[in-house]
This record gives sequence, structure tokens and C-alpha cells, in this order.
Amino acid sequence: MSGSARLPVVQDESPRSSPRNDGSVIDDHISLAELLDLDAFKDVCASFVDLYKIGIKIFDADGTKLVDIRVGNGDWCGYIFQNPVGRQKCTGLVGKIKSFDYQGLTAGKIVEQHCFSGLKYVIMPITYGGDYLGRVIYGPFRPSNLGKPASAVQEFPEFDPEKLWSFVGKIRKAPDETIIKILNNFRGVIDTITFIAMKAHMTQRLHVESVTASYNELSETNQKLRQSFEKLQALDKMKSNFLAMISHELRTPLTSVIGYSEMMIEGMAGDINDEQREYLETIKDKGESLLSLIGSLLDMSKMEAGAMQMNLQVFDTATVVEQARTSIVPQASKKRIQLEVDVPSDLPEYRADPDRLRQSLVNLMGNAVKFTPENGRIDVIARPWCGVLPSEAGGRFGPPERAFVRFDVKDTGIGIPPDKLETIFKSFYQVDNTITREYGGTGLGLSIVKRFMQAHGGDVEVSSEPGAGSTFSLLIPVT
Ligand code: ADP
Repeated sequence: MSGSARLPVVQDESPRSSPRNDGSVIDDHISLAELLDLDAFKDVCASFVDLYKIGIKIFDADGTKLVDIRVGNGDWCGYIFQNPVGRQKCTGLVGKIKSFDYQGLTAGKIVEQHCFSGLKYVIMPITYGGDYLGRVIYGPFRPSNLGKPASAVQEFPEFDPEKLWSFVGKIRKAPDETIIKILNNFRGVIDTITFIAMKAHMTQRLHVESVTASYNELSETNQKLRQSFEKLQALDKMKSNFLAMISHELRTPLTSVIGYSEMMIEGMAGDINDEQREYLETIKDKGESLLSLIGSLLDMSKMEAGAMQMNLQVFDTATVVEQARTSIVPQASKKRIQLEVDVPSDLPEYRADPDRLRQSLVNLMGNAVKFTPENGRIDVIARPWCGVLPSEAGGRFGPPERAFVRFDVKDTGIGIPPDKLETIFKSFYQVDNTITREYGGTGLGLSIVKRFMQAHGGDVEVSSEPGAGSTFSLLIPVT
């Protein structure tokens, strides 16, 4: 490379080579080809070539040619290339330009490269933030002091320098100052384009980085959640097994307590006075409610442990409903509540577990009695019904309607506030959970009913008007 001293240094900033970096966007190095919209960039270069009639070649940092627009020198170079010595020299010059260490150039410095024929090129590195991105090769053009082909050409064998000179008119003649102005101009355009492209690239990378960071954070949280969930599941299983075991162990002695108090009430252990009878009745009553609570706990824990056996069969609905009614009659009569049952004989055939259905009806009717003031009324109505389960409803195209047998337990009781209609089905939930609450219970009854119904492929739903009454409905699919 010769004569670079005459052309000025425009900026003073040492470029670095540009290895790709897979770390943070701050350290990201990117090639010109990746950065630019090449078609648009070629258009910009073409308009410069059009304007000044001097060719432009642009190479990436790794030597890949991105732009090559020639103008005017075709005949001149073509004629030289026809000559074996000319071709050899020409190839040598191209090799020299290619192998020159442009990365070592100071950013903004423009160097000139003479062609042996007398024409000239100038070369300018493209940098961004000190990184070497590539180079622009501008030319060839005719230096203003060139009056004939350079002497090297005169010595080519079988070569006519006069003929070569006849092509010079098509090559732009320009003094160095003009070329420097044009190139500085061009550099301004390139700087703007690379700046905008780099900004867009950085924004995109930052976006990807932040999304990746959020994703990693989420995955980590997810992993922790899964571990906690697994721990909870194990604990839950332990709790269910523990409850099942305790409930089972409590049942046997409790049955004896109830049995013996019954025997004493009946006088099998000798005469008892009224006060003793009253005490024994209380022991029996409390024992029975304790037994029913233990029964509920046992059911719950069995269901939670997935150990509930369903005994599905076709049976006489009226009998099962009547059994449930009979067990509730004593409580209802105490409050002078009218208890009506309506089971049509032509219900569609369905399969269910009669014990679970009876227990569900007992739970609902027991609640109805409990939450209905004296002289109220309870209706238990069985009927065929077509519809969609509350849990499956929703969406624009919900599932098609199905046939069910529906059991409504309707009371004229205190009702349930609208915002509690869903929560009452959760285990241990009671609308009134104060210590001084008026009604007894554990908050397990409805959650057991719900699970029983779900085990049938059905569900339980409720509608209620505070102060006027509630209707709980069991839905069992018709098979
Ligand atoms: P428990 O009756 O043992 O409290 P449940 O699970 O059977 O438990 O019922 C949960 C809660 O739902 C009750 O405490 C009560 O607040 C409300 N509830 C249930 N049935 C009725 C009803 N028929 N009328 C008014 N409230 C009811």
C-alpha cells in the first residue's frame, strides 16, 4: 500500500476486531451483513455511484463482498485484462487489496491505493463504537494529474497504451480533495445507517434478553412451585391416611359408648332415675353426633386418598329417598317442619351408589332442617332433567345437554348470601364461622355431597334467596 500519508485522518479511534459474542447485548458484536438491510443499503450505494460516477465496493469484516457497483472503467480494465501481463498485475492488485490488514487501520482514516495503470482507489474502514465492521473501496477514478497511462503499462508486450487511453473519457476525473469530500459524505450516510441498524438490533436483543430472563425466572419459580406442590401432595396424603386411621380407631369405642348408654336407658343394667336417664340420653346424643362426624371425616379422607369404592347399580329410588326421609323425621318433627317427598314412579333408569345417594340426601335434608326455622317446610322432589352441569357450563359453544335424574331439596330456611354460594362446598367452610354460631356442624357435609356426586359423573348445585330459602339439587347422569 502506498501514499496513504497525503490523505487526512478524520477521526482518531482505534478499531478492534469484531468477534461475535453470545453474552450480554452490551458486548454484542455483529457483522455488517447481519446488521444491514442489504437491498436498501445497495440502493443507497447505487445512488452515490449514480451521482458521482465512481464505483463502490463494500466488504464485510471477514472479507465477504456485500456491494459491488461498477461504473465507467469496464473498457479500460477489460483491455488490460486481455493482456497476460495486465491480467497478472490486475490479479496481484486485487489480492493486495484483499489481504491488506484493514482491521489495523485507524477508524475514519482513508488510504489510497494506486493501480499500476495510473488510476486510483481509496479505501475507508467502516467502524461502529471502535469495532471494525468492514471497508469501502471507492474507485477507480482518474487522478487530476494523470495525462497518459502509467509507465508500467507502456512496458506491456503487445499492448497499445494509446488504445487504453482512448477509454479514459468514461472514467471520472477527480482531484483528491473532491474524493475526500465525497467519501466523508458517504461515511456520514454509512454511520447513520449503522447507528440506526445497531439501535434496532440492540432494542431487539434487549427485548430477547429480557424475555429470556423472565422466562428463566418463571421456569425457576415453576420448578419451586412444583416441588412445593409435590411436598404438599405428600403431606396431604399423610394427613388423609392419618385421619382415616384415627377415625377408624375412634369408631369402635364410640359405638360401645352409644350401645352401652342405650342399654342403660333401656334398664338392662337396673333401674335408673329420671336425672340419670337425662344424662344418659345426652351421652347417647353427643356420641351419635360424634360418630356421624367421624363417619364424615372417614369419607373425606378416603375420597382424598382416592380409596372410595363406588357400588353403582340400578335400584328403587323411592326406597332410598324414603330411608333418608325417615332418618330426618325426628329432627324435623322437633321443629315442626313439614317434610314432603315426591318421587315419580317413571323416573328414567340410572346407575348410582344407593348408599352414597342416601347419605347425600340425608346431608342436604339435615342442613335444610338445621337452617329452617320452626314451622317451615322442606320438599324433596326427584325428576328427570336435561341440561349441562354447572362445572361444564360456560364458553360460547358449551357441551351439549345431557339427561340427568335430579333431586331437589328445597327449604324455606334462612338462605345463603350470593357470594357464599360457591364456598359452602369447600371442606370445613361454614357461612357463620364465629365461635358463638347458632348452628352446629363441621362444614364437611356439602363437600362430601359434592365429591359423591362428582364420583357419579354428576354434580350438586344450589340456588338460594337469603331470608326465603334454598334449593340444593343433586344431578346424576342417566346412563
Ligand atoms: P355444616 O352443615 O356441617 O356446617 P355443610 O358443608 O353441610 O356443613 O354446609 C356448609 C355451610 O353451608 C353451612 O355451615 C351453612 O352455612 C351453609 N348451608 C348449607 N345448607 C344450607 C341451607 N339449607 N340453608 C342455609 N345455609 C346452608
